[in-house]
Amino acid sequence: MSFLMNTYNRLPIAFSHGVGCRLTDTAGKTYLDGLAGIAVNTLGHAHPKLVKAIAEQSARLMHVSNLFQIPEAERLAERLAALAKMDEVFLCNSGCEANEAAIKLARLYGHQRGIENPAVIVMEKAFHGRTLATLSATGNRKVQAGFEPLVSGFVRVPFGNIAAIEQVALHNPNVVAVLLEPIQGEGGIRAATIDFLQKVRTVCDQNNWLLMLDEVQSGVGRTGRWFAHQHAAIRPDVMTLAKGLASGVPIGACLAAGSAAGVFKPGNHGSTFGGNPLACVAALTTLEVMEEDALLARASFVGERIRAGLKDGLKQSRGVVEVRGQGLMIGVELDRPCGELVKLALAAGLVINVTADNVIRLLPPLVMTDAEADELVALLVSVTSQFLACDTSPKAASTS
Ligand SMILES: *Cc1c(COP(=O)(O)O)cnc(C)c1O
Repeated sequence: MSFLMNTYNRLPIAFSHGVGCRLTDTAGKTYLDGLAGIAVNTLGHAHPKLVKAIAEQSARLMHVSNLFQIPEAERLAERLAALAKMDEVFLCNSGCEANEAAIKLARLYGHQRGIENPAVIVMEKAFHGRTLATLSATGNRKVQAGFEPLVSGFVRVPFGNIAAIEQVALHNPNVVAVLLEPIQGEGGIRAATIDFLQKVRTVCDQNNWLLMLDEVQSGVGRTGRWFAHQHAAIRPDVMTLAKGLASGVPIGACLAAGSAAGVFKPGNHGSTFGGNPLACVAALTTLEVMEEDALLARASFVGERIRAGLKDGLKQSRGVVEVRGQGLMIGVELDRPCGELVKLALAAGLVINVTADNVIRLLPPLVMTDAEADELVALLVSVTSQFLACDTSPKAASTS
């Protein structure tokens, strides 16, 4: 009997503690963490520097409200702006809140330009969160069903299709922005091509649209760059961050640059908790350790090692459609639904996730060692090849 609202199908395991990439459950069994709480625990579990920084800050000051100056928030905003080469930052507490800020910013930007019904172009298979605006922006009917009426003002196009965006540009004068994930996470670890990202940048420039990138999952080093869009050498006008930013302390950020900067004025937007000293210190410490320990390079290197290991280990297994991803954002697409694999992996002592029905998703901590990566590969190859050899369930209709 649980008093929690029934919003999750939870696995019958509770973790009691963790160190680095290892988790221990309440029965004393240990697991290798290939998920990092869905791309959140950037520094793994119980990182000594982060533990110390949080302890010291909580003993000093946790919360004061945005009615006052918050030096820690100033420092974090300055650091993020420098890393992203952007101009200003709104701090909040989660990914959907960061995206809400982006959507509100786009609408205000439109109104300031005399567009009364501003619209935002969004992608098929996108995921932007569970609030009303962000679920409306999400390209997954399961997330929306039952919550109609949806928020209006979104125009959907196929992910990766620049011609579709150009068509909208010709016919819809209300568009003010394009919102997309450089690598779709919940949608199955699907990366936009560099060419697509650069062309979207161009179309946005030509039409005075804001390019808004949801890097809630792909940002903060996960793909081997600070932000995934940096692989395409473009800069967005708006970018949202959350998951990995403070290694487990709730936080979100909406960054703006160029004509997107200066849109919000006092009274337009806010958050009680957003930018509190505790969360900001956790984020600053996360960024600091990432630099000191060269975790971007680690993400690239270990990610490549895991992909190569999985490709090699699974090359004999029929049923593997593709091993893909960038850095430590990795997907293994199978030709059939594979939710069961999560339980098989747990039994073998490995934490993974399955998304979009048939894509194994790996989002390990960025502190993963080579030895842990090899262990992850061995465990996952073993359970996946057994699953593919035994599974007799009907194949998924779509395999592409
Ligand atoms: C997880 C996620 C969100 C939502 O973040 P919450 O913190 O759960 O609100 C939004 N966008 C992307 C790309 C995500 O992966």
